[in-house]
Amino acid sequence: MHSQGTPIRVGVLGFGGLGQAAAQVLAPKQEMTLVAVADKQGYLYAPAGIDRKACVRAYQEQGSVGYAEPGGTLSQQSIQELIESAAGVEGYFLALPNLPNTFMASVVEQFIRSGWQGVLVDALKRTSAMEQMLTLGDDLRKAGITYMTGCGATPGLLTAAAALAAQSYAEIHQVKVTFGVGIANWEAYRATIREDIAHMPGYNVPTAQQMSDAEVEALLDQTNGLLHLENMEHADDLMLELAGICSRDQVTVGGIVDTRNPKKPLSTNVQVTGRTFEGKISTHTFTLGDETSMAANVCGPAFGYLKAGVQLQRRGQHGVFTAAEVMPQFVR
Ligand code: NAD
Repeated sequence: MHSQGTPIRVGVLGFGGLGQAAAQVLAPKQEMTLVAVADKQGYLYAPAGIDRKACVRAYQEQGSVGYAEPGGTLSQQSIQELIESAAGVEGYFLALPNLPNTFMASVVEQFIRSGWQGVLVDALKRTSAMEQMLTLGDDLRKAGITYMTGCGATPGLLTAAAALAAQSYAEIHQVKVTFGVGIANWEAYRATIREDIAHMPGYNVPTAQQMSDAEVEALLDQTNGLLHLENMEHADDLMLELAGICSRDQVTVGGIVDTRNPKKPLSTNVQVTGRTFEGKISTHTFTLGDETSMAANVCGPAFGYLKAGVQLQRRGQHGVFTAAEVMPQFVR
């Protein structure tokens, strides 16, 4: 257990939809203190804890946490400079876009090169992006970094639930993730929406990345604000395969995103079908409450896995771990 009375000093990279929600999730916590934030134009490090409201104001009104006073710094190499100046950070949540599909891996390589040791947590979505993290496993181990991958909602919370549900069965036949996301406006989660568009027929990561905001809006106008997604390339498949639960082709992920209404268009759930030792075929279903937002279901698990990662780190366990192989710890 984490020793009482010494909160874990946490940083959040990316201060968009998820990054700001992450800061809000941490605000009432006793066991973690947010001491560092960065966005594309700047960063802020405050060893005693950042002033969240000042950061949100600076980001929303001036475009970067680098404008927040006191302590904000404007920089075009915000992550690099933050890593160098914020030696006291024990763990980071990477709430960054993965555009291009190699971006997150390049950030992780920056951490490896810097000599920093601690815990990193991502909420990566694509299988091919997670494969890049797995190839960095040896380097992360040598660097003394404990890397928790796929720790959002899907992959993340739902993948872990599937790993748990699988225990009732002797053989797993299918894992089916169906998500419903409702957000009031797409601009609050630009990277999430662009990355979702990249899964639609006729689009890929480079084309979605290159779309202007006006082009995204024009597409959403045509679909009445809805994105219907099927057979997505989601790393839940790789994570469940690595955990020895089923092969990746037995896992499917799809869902609906409503970008004009915070109400979920359908209830997010994961269904795990298998055969018990007695020969019965059955399905476990784990359904998230409709009132829980995407941000709640991503940021809660991300910090739960960060806390679990700190425990692994302190035991000398470094390298890459997925959300399907480690239990998240509840952060008080
Ligand atoms: P966003 O577009 O709202 O915000 C991105 C933030 O990253 C911005 O603050 C931006 O300034 C910052 N940023 C961009 N480039 C940077 C750089 N080079 N250096 C420093 N900061 C930089 O993003 P979002 O909608 O909050 O999504 C973040 C990520 O979370 C996406 O990759 C998305 O796919 C992922 N996500 C995962 C899940 C899941 O369940 N696993 C769910 C939702 C979102």
